[in-house]
Amino acid sequence: METVLIANRGEIALRIIRACRRLGLRAVCAFSEDDRGAGYLDLADEAVCVGPAAATKSYLNIPALLSAARATGASLVHPGYGFLSENADFAQAVSDAGLTLIGPSAAIMRKMGDKVEAKRAMIAAGVPCVPGPDSVLPDDPDALATLAAEIGYPVILKAAGGGGGRGMRVVQGESDLAQAFMITRQEARRFFGNADIYMEKYLQAPRHVEIQVIADSHGHALWLGDRDCSMQRRHQKLIEEAPAPGIDRALIADIGERCAASCREISYVGAGTFEFLYENGELYFIEVNTRIQVEHPVTEMVTGLDIVALQIEVARGASLPLTQAEVRTFGHAIECRINAEDPHSFTPSPGHISRMHVPGGPGIRVDTHVATGAEIPASYDSMIGKVIAHGADRNEALARAATALAELRVDGVACNAALHGALLGDPDFRRGGVSIHHLEQWLARREGADA
Ligand code: ADP
Repeated sequence: METVLIANRGEIALRIIRACRRLGLRAVCAFSEDDRGAGYLDLADEAVCVGPAAATKSYLNIPALLSAARATGASLVHPGYGFLSENADFAQAVSDAGLTLIGPSAAIMRKMGDKVEAKRAMIAAGVPCVPGPDSVLPDDPDALATLAAEIGYPVILKAAGGGGGRGMRVVQGESDLAQAFMITRQEARRFFGNADIYMEKYLQAPRHVEIQVIADSHGHALWLGDRDCSMQRRHQKLIEEAPAPGIDRALIADIGERCAASCREISYVGAGTFEFLYENGELYFIEVNTRIQVEHPVTEMVTGLDIVALQIEVARGASLPLTQAEVRTFGHAIECRINAEDPHSFTPSPGHISRMHVPGGPGIRVDTHVATGAEIPASYDSMIGKVIAHGADRNEALARAATALAELRVDGVACNAALHGALLGDPDFRRGGVSIHHLEQWLARREGADA
């Protein structure tokens, strides 16, 4: 029986354990000192400590993870999301150790991790991008000013190696350009070790729409529909849904097909997400994520597919078991990320869960690694689970999500379930199609009303 080392923690580690079970694979879960004794580890076939609480010493510790794989006889490594999931050096180290990473090759990760290179690859595949040159910016201030004037203000400066919403700066006019360029360059060097900067048109109030893809090593690639993830705070997604409401299905199908084509073009293997901004009826590519995403369950709910199992299967060399015509979607799904945090200040609220009740019922799926008695460590992300609701249409999905959230009970730590409840009742959100600024505007209005 083949063994998968899960180089991650929390709900995604449990999600991967479940996929391994379904496929009859042995699941070994890595854990840090802070996660020792966590309940979800009991569901793995084996759990192995990879280091102290600090992620740099455990979940980001490549030598420790490779020794864990060796010690437990793993032949496959699943990186989940976050941590090392998009780290090309890790992908290379896994492959050099004679193991198989469940994800694309180091070369593909490197190419897609450089946003300028990714943009170039997308243009070649006929995927529309945000207006702006597909090359890094020159140092010459006059050349910069000319480029920005051509694109038209406002523009956004972005680090080619950027991620996590950092290393980006909006420039409203020429008087701010030189200074903004200098700061962005410094940040790019400091955070990402890559000083390259590029420039795009800054879209004023777009939506965030993304396409899920999956590709095998035999030249087959599929797109599995779209998601809308516009409900964000500080570039962190809070609510996601599939499909994106109110967008022309023919446009999605056209772009989806181009995303799949570009996977074939670059010999992409694994699951991936093409992220776009949507404005004035057009989709503009911004980046590719070469890993499974937090919000993958909404796509699973509407397609009935197990994306994590597919991801493992294609990594093992299997052909995709279906054709594009066999990818069907039914109804609508909404995911609410449940965080242990103060719903007003958003300060994380680690601690002991004295009692927890998880909702259920028709169309409800809850992906969580915690239960009554669990400890939420302060060292990591505050997400403790996801409530996903599926319905025959968007209204039914919204109604089911609201019922489930009202049923969810988490005592002992602060949690954002009630915030989600309020957001699901927001008339603008209910209409569908809010922009990426909507959640922050809604929160600002709430603070104003409270004051
Ligand atoms: P990261 O990899 O850091 O997440 P992205 O390129 O995905 O960076 O951009 C993150 C977010 O920044 C987007 O979801 C969007 O909210 C905003 N953004 C990025 N590019 C633009 C743009 N050209 N116009 C408007 N907003 C943008």
